[in-house]
Amino acid sequence: MKEFELIKHFFTEQAVKRKDVLLGIGDDCAVVSSTENQDIVVTTDTLVAGVHFPLGTSAKAIGHKAVAVNLSDIAAMGAKPSWISLAITLPEVNDEWLTEFCAGAFELCEYYNVQLIGGDTTQGPLSITITAQGLTPEGKYLSRSGAKSGDWLYATGELGDAALALQHHKKQLLLECEIAEQVQKKLDYPKPRVLAGQALREYASAAIDISDGMLADLGHICQASNVGANVVLDAIPMSDAMNKSQLFDDAINFALNGGDDYELLFTVSEDNKVGMETALSHAGVKISCIGQINASRTISTTLDNKAVPINGSGFQHFSSKTHTKK
Ligand code: ADP
Ligand code: MG
Repeated sequence: MKEFELIKHFFTEQAVKRKDVLLGIGDDCAVVSSTENQDIVVTTDTLVAGVHFPLGTSAKAIGHKAVAVNLSDIAAMGAKPSWISLAITLPEVNDEWLTEFCAGAFELCEYYNVQLIGGDTTQGPLSITITAQGLTPEGKYLSRSGAKSGDWLYATGELGDAALALQHHKKQLLLECEIAEQVQKKLDYPKPRVLAGQALREYASAAIDISDGMLADLGHICQASNVGANVVLDAIPMSDAMNKSQLFDDAINFALNGGDDYELLFTVSEDNKVGMETALSHAGVKISCIGQINASRTISTTLDNKAVPINGSGFQHFSSKTHTKK
């Protein structure tokens, strides 16, 4: 199959057709209509085989993940995703692989009404770059820089499962089949918190998506906002699968330092706390208050109301078998 046939066969036909796309795939550029009173947020993420996903990951999971990680960034800005473009580098044209890849990618696009409007197709080692765009009401986007001393720190969902799955995959620990399957799903099919992000727009003072590990991403909020934070380790949300695995100290380290969770980490003022909790419970999203912002410009952690020190890769009395991406 030639490049143009491939593009037509796999990428041009898709279920999502948005009214604001004036020209989609097929011309030199896509054209979308601009909207008054709205800001456009734009993000790009690349997935390289063997770096951002293990070799042997299914094509469907790769397609899903490539879209999901970008929509997760859009969610962290409080925006509604609208369009993506896809630059894909393939070692060969494999119909079956591409069909599965598209199934994974388009499933998420359909769910969130996101249209693929263009891209580039090249030959080489497998790599996928997606640029995603989204819309927010003018001036209403969330950023990393608005956290204030006294704000409460929250996370959506549960943390650490993706890191646990990766450790299992690397055979650095052995999980029961059922647990392994559950956490593998979290690693392969992360759910971007798109609706939560939009619900947070009215309430959060700062937000980020957790892609590099909770502590690292909290560090980004603290740096951008010129603040510090205390994290209450007892409050870190973990899945039933993680709890069942009985990893104790390692579990905390996975939750704090493991990558690929794609949950949202955000801060809310005391005044907005109740409104935010109500809005997110209406959206059906689990949230946990895991600490508080302070003026110290450092990150501290407490366990059982006592301070516990952080070193480079974790806590002194925890082992350091952590997954740190990149
Ligand atoms: P050009 O040479 O002008 O860059 P291409 O031949 O690369 O155009 O692509 C032809 C059309 O197909 C363009 O509209 C481009 O956006 C689209 N396209 C190419 N690859 C992809 C892809 N992987 N996914 C979606 N659209 C693609
Ligand atoms: Mg091109």
